[in-house]
Amino acid sequence: MIPLSVPHLAGNEWKYVRECLDTNWVSSAGSFVTRFGEELAEYVGVKHAVAVNTGSAGLHLALLACGVQEGDEVIVPTLTFIATINVVRYCGAHPVFMDADPETFCLDEKKLKRFLEEECEEREGQFVNKTSGRVVRVVMPVHVFGHPSAMGDIMTTARAHGVKVVEDATESLGSTLHGRKTGTFADASVFSFNGNKIMTSGGGGAVVTDSDDVHARVKHLANQANTDVFIYDHDDVGFNYRLTNVQAAIGAAQLEQLDGFIEKKRRNAALYAELLASVHQVEFAVEREGVRSNCWFYTILVSTQHRDALMAHLVEKKIQVRPIWKLMHEMDMFSVCQQYELTEAPRIQSMGINLPCSTSLTEDEVHFVVNAIKEYFSHV
Ligand SMILES: *Cc1c(COP(=O)(O)O)cnc(C)c1O
Repeated sequence: MIPLSVPHLAGNEWKYVRECLDTNWVSSAGSFVTRFGEELAEYVGVKHAVAVNTGSAGLHLALLACGVQEGDEVIVPTLTFIATINVVRYCGAHPVFMDADPETFCLDEKKLKRFLEEECEEREGQFVNKTSGRVVRVVMPVHVFGHPSAMGDIMTTARAHGVKVVEDATESLGSTLHGRKTGTFADASVFSFNGNKIMTSGGGGAVVTDSDDVHARVKHLANQANTDVFIYDHDDVGFNYRLTNVQAAIGAAQLEQLDGFIEKKRRNAALYAELLASVHQVEFAVEREGVRSNCWFYTILVSTQHRDALMAHLVEKKIQVRPIWKLMHEMDMFSVCQQYELTEAPRIQSMGINLPCSTSLTEDEVHFVVNAIKEYFSHV
């Protein structure tokens, strides 16, 4: 079987994990936790990074540190993984669903601008959604499959109305937009090191920021809002969201290999695109001007009429594929939330297939997948 996306552990993982076990530093403190945070901040190009136990936990803390309170609104794309939306609800806030850009699959920055300008207004110093009367606190774009959102425009639009921005950069570690890495644009940004991401710590995540205040708040809340480690005093309802030293050891070893992983992913993406160029029924995702994506996931679009049959054909050939996530506004628990002009996301969702994209994927395997796609279209 050719898997969709599996980890690639080819460096110092064993050595660093052994060091944790040999020195008895296996839990939520230890040199690798500190080192991983520091090396990550340096890699991304930000002042601070706080390692946490999942990307979801990181997103939750990033929203809280940006001031999201019960009853607020957070603007999110409908085309994303469910964690992006769940964390809004963990804060007691309400998601408002935005459409996707047809080329990048990321939050449509033009519709966002129109929504903030036409559907919201300033009331007594607060920026409020006219329909719901709720305060619009944060916009949370997602760099879908590794491709950066239009951060320049999104930041300008949000800043104009005093709305904070959190990058859900969980899929885009190492991607750049005009030479700047994702995670450096917003008030706070979050990466994930889950097993299917471009690099892994087994499970884990990180919140990165240039803000001393956001950093202090995230660090505090991730460790039970502890203010005194001797008498165990706490000044808030915090969380245990810390990463363990063993996980950070794996993460540190993976980070050493990240640039190589990205090279490999980009080479395979280019090979897929080249080999599929002759198949006129297939569109391969494009990279926008000024973007260098980490190419975490490879997505093709085919007509809705062929999508499911093609996936069945590939699965029969033992090629693991998946449609793009079911859209968030279609989930029962979020169906009551406001939606704004969702036209492109449903079209992309109905046409999209994610192809195998592991860092360990070989050229022969790419050829095998492409030949299976060609075989399907030669019979229809
Ligand atoms: C992976 C992912 C997350 C959550 O990360 P975990 O580490 O699995 O909690 C959040 N948002 C998006 C878009 C993701 O792909």
